[in-house]
Amino acid sequence: VFSVEHVLRQAMLALSKSRRAERLVTTSPLTSDVVGRYVAGDIGAVVGDLTRKGLLVTVDHLGEEVTDQAQAEAAVGDHLALLRLLPAGADVSIKLTALGLRLSRGLALDHAAAICAAAERKGVTVTLDAEEHDTIPGLHAVHAALRREHPEVGVVVQAYLPDSLDRCEKLVGARVRLCKGAYTAPGAYTRTADIDRAFVRCLKVLMAGTGYPMVATHDPRLVRIASTLAVLDGRDLTGFEYQMLYGVRPEEQARLAGLGARMRVYVPYGSDWYAYLMRRLAERPRNLAFFLRSLASR
Ligand code: FAD
Repeated sequence: VFSVEHVLRQAMLALSKSRRAERLVTTSPLTSDVVGRYVAGDIGAVVGDLTRKGLLVTVDHLGEEVTDQAQAEAAVGDHLALLRLLPAGADVSIKLTALGLRLSRGLALDHAAAICAAAERKGVTVTLDAEEHDTIPGLHAVHAALRREHPEVGVVVQAYLPDSLDRCEKLVGARVRLCKGAYTAPGAYTRTADIDRAFVRCLKVLMAGTGYPMVATHDPRLVRIASTLAVLDGRDLTGFEYQMLYGVRPEEQARLAGLGARMRVYVPYGSDWYAYLMRRLAERPRNLAFFLRSLASR
């Protein structure tokens, strides 16, 4: 039996892939409040503001799935332009589908390598986001190949995938961002308790390992467990980081940074915000009500 929340989430995720719905939503008089809550307008100003508050950033130039090589090359250009705006110590989050992963693994690898090389020159790190389940084998193949030249390149593990623990065990010495998972996948855990249990199992492996764990969650219980495990595993405050999304629990972000923790905010920007916004709304039915109210108020 599925809960109302589960059904709503599936519906929102299906809408996130619908071109028709995208046209409807992006051409409707959607208040800029809804988009502006989750997506940075002026990226330079937002990064400057967060940095002044003692927060670290990872910036996502919005855009997914390209259908030809020219679009993938344009995405590389967008990322190189973004790098020019970022201070040393920042991170960029990249989506391999935007760099051509579904066209060819080799193409995505070459494009990601060009971004990693430019990032290194600026003292900026790169993290490869995890997307739909069919892209995960390609993601890890590209990550493994990139690590040979760019050992600092990070990768995301989605706890909801049944092999998440196995992935964490294999990613020895790597920068790994652990998250619950924002898409759907056959065989994936769907019950909250199962996803949380998988998250904690992965976290234990990453914290006890030799890599650099990046704990991407807003879940207060998982944040507490991460901080406890870090202490038990003898990691100091520079030995791991928390990550949260721009616009989600900003007071908690400030609290953790105030305690001296490394707190990195994932900041998406750009005009291609539709799929990103739909996934954020799917995470929380209360956000959906906020979204519908803002549409109705126009
Ligand atoms: P939840 O159980 O969803 O939320 C816990 C609490 O956080 C909620 O009760 C609520 O108080 C608050 N909260 C959570 N989400 C929202 C929201 N949207 N608006 C307002 N409050 C909210 N997923 C991927 O599949 N691939 C990625 O590469 C990826 N990268 C990520 C990077 C970062 C930095 C973060 C934080 C998440 C990323 N995600 C990614 C998304 C992730 O998988 C989850 O979908 C998302 O973080 C929600 O899960 P949660 O751990 O916050 O827990």
